[in-house]
Amino acid sequence: MRHQSKLPNIGTTIFSVMSGLAKEYRAINLSQGFPDFGSDQKLIDLVNNAMNSGYNQYAPMAGSFELREAISKKIQTLYNASYHPENEITITAGATQAISTILTTFIKPNDEVIIFKPAYDSYEPGVQINGGKPISVQLQAPDFKINWQEVKEKITKRTKMIIINTPHNPSGMVFSKDDMLALQKLTRDTDIIVLSDEVYEHMVYDGLLHQSASMFPDLKLRSFVVASFCKTFHNTGWRMGYCCAPKPLMALFMQVHQFNVFCVHHPTQKGIADYMKEPKHYLNLANFYQGKRDLFLKLIKDSRFRFKPSSGTYFQVLDYSKITNEYDVDYAKRLTKEFRLASIPMSVFNENNVDNKMLRFCFAKKDETLKQAAEILNKI
Ligand code: GLN
Repeated sequence: MRHQSKLPNIGTTIFSVMSGLAKEYRAINLSQGFPDFGSDQKLIDLVNNAMNSGYNQYAPMAGSFELREAISKKIQTLYNASYHPENEITITAGATQAISTILTTFIKPNDEVIIFKPAYDSYEPGVQINGGKPISVQLQAPDFKINWQEVKEKITKRTKMIIINTPHNPSGMVFSKDDMLALQKLTRDTDIIVLSDEVYEHMVYDGLLHQSASMFPDLKLRSFVVASFCKTFHNTGWRMGYCCAPKPLMALFMQVHQFNVFCVHHPTQKGIADYMKEPKHYLNLANFYQGKRDLFLKLIKDSRFRFKPSSGTYFQVLDYSKITNEYDVDYAKRLTKEFRLASIPMSVFNENNVDNKMLRFCFAKKDETLKQAAEILNKI
């Protein structure tokens, strides 16, 4: 049999490639973003309790009502925004399913979707598989600031959606209030949908505040806010995320979601709903990860790698242009094989794979792992 790919230009995601290589060479893995420490035992116990108390059949399609209520309360408290738990919040199999379902729901052939590069690698294929056309706006290192004039020039009659991501993976940049106001102004009086990927919402550093699309009333009206429990509660393997949107948008999303997954793992939802009763479980995250970022950067301050401290996410970008001129993909692979330290080359996220000699390192790791990684970087 012969079959044609629906994504002929897409290879295996860099996250699998680099984690696979790290495993093969027994390298310290700072590539794919996941913690090397465990989730809170209390949360694991709560999920176990949920299983033992019979939460083992289908949840409602949109997810456990208790969990949706907990999310609604959290958003109200943190962002002063209201989403009704009944019909404006849906629990998904990770943020990735939310993103994929949003794109399937809205993108038709030839619709244009504006994407900021470097971009998380699921956005573009998610647009293409639905026949849409990704339109890139490249952000420039090392600040990765957005030129809103350029965005304005790229908006056409066919622009269906703009995807934003704050805090931004892979750069560690966070959107300012002015960025959000500029986006709100640009999209006012249009039919453009905003997909706001906010999975690192609780990891914003140096006193900056997360600017959620939900905080800006006109923006909220056209936005899906996508969030993640996996990032927040240190269990990326659980695949638990959610999205929020005003009722008319969510009604369209639900038409697809019901046949995509129907609903996701019920006992985990119940466990997380119980765990969220204590807000400290997510509010302490910024301090926790800022400590890790600071430790990592202090340890490598005398290395030949250059950096601008990450403002958000659990990623730090390092510039190696003083060390070698090698293509970043080759260099990331060589570091893994020869120095036993895995990272992610930034070019794979850029328009035309532009190589700025930068690698992304994940600092969601035990202090001892960060120390071992720093020792390697300092030797280079
Ligand atoms: N979000 C994670 C990262 O950026 C990876 C997720 C995945 O492997 N699909 O590293």
